[in-house]
Amino acid sequence: ADTQGELKADGLTVFYGQHQALDHASLRVRAGEIVVILGANGAGKSTLLQTIAGLVPRSSGSVRLGERVIGTLKSHQVVESGLALVPEGRGIFGELSVEDNLRLGAYARRARGSEQENLERVYSLFPRLAERRRQIARTMSGGEQQMVAIGRAMMSNPTILMLDEPSLGLSPLLAKDVFRTLAEVRKTGLGILLVEQNAKQSLAIADRGYLIETGQIVAENSAQALMNDPAVQRAYLGGA
Ligand code: ATP
Repeated sequence: ADTQGELKADGLTVFYGQHQALDHASLRVRAGEIVVILGANGAGKSTLLQTIAGLVPRSSGSVRLGERVIGTLKSHQVVESGLALVPEGRGIFGELSVEDNLRLGAYARRARGSEQENLERVYSLFPRLAERRRQIARTMSGGEQQMVAIGRAMMSNPTILMLDEPSLGLSPLLAKDVFRTLAEVRKTGLGILLVEQNAKQSLAIADRGYLIETGQIVAENSAQALMNDPAVQRAYLGGA
């Protein structure tokens, strides 16, 4: 099988002290695929992304990106390995311009030498950022700031882009913009792993999804099948 650009996590178990946050969680993301993880508050979604990124130590399990094995890493090593994580709350530098924020994403060795090319790619994906390249980031709208955060992650030329609640705190209209953007990003061939409370809009752009409950992956299916699943509708889509 072609495993190039494929992310594969197997049997991830994580404890915070006595508290078990992940219990043998496994998932897979192929190149060009959007995969969403749905779960309630505290289910372990952020922990799962951080563990895949090698930022949280695991007590068992493995993570592979292509042929490469990911252990516990420092954040710059995570980026070098081809994983880019857009954390919850975005973490952009408010006093810097849009372009300076984007360029900060290009420090990785894997992206040096292609900074200008990556910048143009980000600007062609997000024309709004190109128009506003000199604007101070904190004066951008919430949705635009989220685009800056995604654009910055893409400056490291990742194989897999992981996002923790990209629509959090955004109006429905701005959230829609962000999801539309992710659908565009996917066309460039990278795999996207996304944690979301907004089940409806995220399933609408996703290929597949996983449900996580108290640290366990309890279901995996196509986005279409999940949308039509009565249990998913009750728990995450606010309806019957
Ligand atoms: P939310 O949607 O509310 O952000 P989540 O699904 O992302 O939740 P996690 O943040 O992964 O959940 O947390 C999973 C569980 O682990 C929670 O019970 C949380 O309180 C606990 N937890 C998370 N981080 C730590 C930590 N550093 N130390 C101790 N417990 C933690």
